[in-house]
Amino acid sequence: MRSNAIKSEDWLAELDESGIRVTAIQEMLIDIFAHSEYPLSTEQAWDIARQSRPKTGRATVYRMVEKLENLGLIRRLHGYQGCSHFVPTLPGLMMLFICLDCGRADYLESQPLDHLIQQSEDTSGHHITDSRLQLYGICATCQQGA
Ligand SMILES: [Zn+2]
Repeated sequence: MRSNAIKSEDWLAELDESGIRVTAIQEMLIDIFAHSEYPLSTEQAWDIARQSRPKTGRATVYRMVEKLENLGLIRRLHGYQGCSHFVPTLPGLMMLFICLDCGRADYLESQPLDHLIQQSEDTSGHHITDSRLQLYGICATCQQGA
């Protein structure tokens, strides 16, 4: 994820506030998810974790992913690879772009979306608090390589 808005320290603070004590392995998992440029499945996160800590247990990774998802720090991508992949959640309403070629995920400038949502709120009277807009295509880098 290219965005600098994601800081693993913020996640650690949030876990701490929820009364969750974070082990060194969990801290590593937070780093893996917070800094990945690609949506990650739990299995992939486990693979990455074992590169630096070969003894990392699979169940540890699954439990941590569940905690992070419950806290809203990562979110599941629906309609992508069997809905098994996660990306870090950014504050506010965001458009997420996923490259169908290399799999890179990127949060896009969401100002036009903010306007659209504001308009929809005004005309419908609904209060919109979350959005899950996922855009698919070919990223700038992959287009150059074509
Ligand atoms: Zn790409």
